[in-house]
Amino acid sequence: AKWVYAFGDGKAEGKSQMRELLGGKGANLAEMSNLGLPVPPGFTITTEVCTYYYAHDKQYPPELKAQVDEALAKVGALTGRTFGDAKSPLLVSVRSGARASMPGMMDTVLNLGLNDATVAALAESAGDPRFAYDSYRRFITMYSNVVLGVEHHAFEEALEHYKERKGVELDTELGAEDWKTLIQTYKKIVRDEHGSDFPQEPQDQLWGAIGAVFDSWMIPRAKKYRELNSIPESWGTAVNVQAMVFGNMGDTSATGVAFTRNPSTGERALYGEFLINAQGEDVVAGIRTPQDITEKARIEAKSDRPSMETAMPESFAELTRIYGILEKHYRDMQDMEFTIESGKLWMLQTRNGKRTAKAALKIAVDLASEGLITQEEAILRVEPGALDQLLHPTIDPKAERKVIASGLPASPGAATGEIVFNSEAAEACRKAERKCILVRIETSPEDIHGMHASEGILTTRGGMTSHAAVVARGMGKPCVSGVGSIRIDYKAQTLSVGGQTLKAGDKITIDGSTGQVLLGEVKMLEPELSGDFATLMGWADAHRTMKVRTNADTPTDAHTARNFGAEGIGLCRTEHMFFEGDRIVAVREMILADDTEGRRAALAKILPYQRQDFVELFKIMSGLPVTIRLLDPPLHEFLPHTDAEVQEVVAATGVAEDKIRHRMRELSEFNPMLGFRGCRLAIAFPEIAEMQARAIFEAAVQAAEETGSPVTSEVMVPLVFTRAEFDIVKARIDAMAKAVSEEKGATLAYQVGTMIELPRAALKAGEIAETAEFFSFGTNDLTQTALGISRDDAATFLGPYTQKGILPSDPFVTIDQDGVGELVRIGVERGRKVRSGLKLGICGEHGGDPASIGFCQEVGLDYVSCSPYRVPIARLAAAQAAL
Ligand code: PEP
Ligand code: MG
Repeated sequence: AKWVYAFGDGKAEGKSQMRELLGGKGANLAEMSNLGLPVPPGFTITTEVCTYYYAHDKQYPPELKAQVDEALAKVGALTGRTFGDAKSPLLVSVRSGARASMPGMMDTVLNLGLNDATVAALAESAGDPRFAYDSYRRFITMYSNVVLGVEHHAFEEALEHYKERKGVELDTELGAEDWKTLIQTYKKIVRDEHGSDFPQEPQDQLWGAIGAVFDSWMIPRAKKYRELNSIPESWGTAVNVQAMVFGNMGDTSATGVAFTRNPSTGERALYGEFLINAQGEDVVAGIRTPQDITEKARIEAKSDRPSMETAMPESFAELTRIYGILEKHYRDMQDMEFTIESGKLWMLQTRNGKRTAKAALKIAVDLASEGLITQEEAILRVEPGALDQLLHPTIDPKAERKVIASGLPASPGAATGEIVFNSEAAEACRKAERKCILVRIETSPEDIHGMHASEGILTTRGGMTSHAAVVARGMGKPCVSGVGSIRIDYKAQTLSVGGQTLKAGDKITIDGSTGQVLLGEVKMLEPELSGDFATLMGWADAHRTMKVRTNADTPTDAHTARNFGAEGIGLCRTEHMFFEGDRIVAVREMILADDTEGRRAALAKILPYQRQDFVELFKIMSGLPVTIRLLDPPLHEFLPHTDAEVQEVVAATGVAEDKIRHRMRELSEFNPMLGFRGCRLAIAFPEIAEMQARAIFEAAVQAAEETGSPVTSEVMVPLVFTRAEFDIVKARIDAMAKAVSEEKGATLAYQVGTMIELPRAALKAGEIAETAEFFSFGTNDLTQTALGISRDDAATFLGPYTQKGILPSDPFVTIDQDGVGELVRIGVERGRKVRSGLKLGICGEHGGDPASIGFCQEVGLDYVSCSPYRVPIARLAAAQAAL
């Protein structure tokens, strides 16, 4: 079998389509070689070797060694060097490369092949002994840490001591002889900590590093990342071995990362950072603050350090040429790593760059406008869930800003919260339902859970491509990085800046779009939905076949949803209006009444309120369909719960306390969600349904009169399990429609339909459709009743269920296609068979979940209905589902 794929010198055995086998990095290195771009030669050990390794008790396939030797010899031939040779040694880097990029999760070893003999050859060929010995000591620390498990700080302490004794402050003040001395100390540290000598044999070094990459696939932080990003363990990682090029060979050398477009805003311009005379990980690690690539970016950042454009104009021109080729070839924004060795530019990596939602939107729209991709592709390029980021608040430009510090605008959006200094505190805050900002010197993969738990992240070190910045952008959380003026004292749990000190728990606001850190809470603004957002939404609307409605109970919700493009109301939960203002008093009088007459008297007080609510909704939705559901929850929910509330009800209604308490006992249920609710209320107390129907129809007449445009109302009966229930309630509604239309002398356009939210209703959909004019699948209750899992308190065991893979995801978030989905399918088929024009929708939470929306398209629903803020997400998801 073939386990090793070579690349370099304008050709490669692999290509970009082979990322399953070669990992993302390996596949793209091969592709760049095929494109004739300058890539240091190397080879990729496939992900299948990783799978084999774990299936065979950490043994390699028997043919692997020979294939690696052969590939290594090829690299040697291309570079004119030999691995392990004392005169002209080939040095390599060894890196991981999984199918999906896993930033910061896996380990890298540079300068491999150096030992006591080859270091001298490197010194000679570079003409720079300091550089050679510096490289060797870096290799010893990196290798010892990653492969042998020796802690970094052991080496750092030795270095600090040495500098103290010499009376110097900076590493750059140390010369070749200093590094030589330190290398002896480092080797002793390895012997003491690891129990054996640092390996001198390059072959041992190589296989040690390869094994370490494979082993790192199973370290806890890699596992955690996979868990958070749904990356299967079975994918494995590839290993890339590549000839070293040195960015630290003096002032004509450099290393950097660049995006072909701005990953925060999407703006079309080369964007990135580089460091002169630095090696590989220095940029990403955020230890030294890097310089800008373009002159424009430098001016914007008001930096006084030269950009790459002016400091290295030839390399800049070469990078510009290459980025053009890569964008055209991959037809997407690229995230590239490069190194310049003595004036020659080498590409070390390219991949589709991670970006904020705002950038994703702009890049998709721009690429389509530039003709690089089609409109359909643009629609598919933006992840619907990511739009959420754009729908969230930013700081009101008119608000007073008490700016206490500034850093880099690493991830856009604004957030307020109390200061926490570590991830545990962030999680504790989250549990207590308080908002926090995670404040760290820098973040590492161990902080991911804390980043998840916080509203935003602030770091005092690191650039736009530091760990904090990359991860925050991926999570869609605001981040300000590199705020150098803030000093953090973890021990004292304080931060100080400009003479003031803030403690853990104090409130700050960060603005990830400007990089500002502000004192206290600041007024926020709702997002604007024009420009690229409107363009993409327009394309989505032209491609989708399902309608998108909203679940809205109040005029505010309805307005928001209309602005987001809702095409009607799919569910108005009328009970939510019962709590508004002092209507609850009349509602309680109605519940406490002894007979129908008493109830009617109380309902008469509620009627004008309901009518006015509906008039407003009809007007806001001007002409679009509005589905109003009859009262659904158990009446018990409207009664008082505490003693104080009982006293209030006594005062407000004049009903005696013991009577109230008696009614409370009477109405209390063990399983209220399976109890006296839904259409069961309308059957026991038809006067409630009648009042609601009257309010709806009178409102329809009034709204039509006032606006001049017709109103289509859809009256929906909840929690039906048999046609008989539905028919009884429908008869009352029809009678009321007739009465109102006679009283007002107006014709009414309305439909009466039902929720399908009980398994029996789905099964008997054929029968129910004989009289019901539309169905709306209530997948919240349908999930609850089909799985026998309470939607209100299932969290305690649902977590473990998804972690163990018993359920693929939370069934209340993403529809359980196999089970609940089958009931929906049955409902659709049996309903449509009886009534071919039956209108079908969904109004459970799943109506706003992109994965579930795909399912809705598949089974042929006419519309989805979701909460206002999810409407744009649903529009895009519906378009993707239709493509
Ligand atoms: C449902 O059950 O899916 C539904 C939309 O109704 P509710 O959530 O109000 O029970
Ligand atoms: Mg329901």
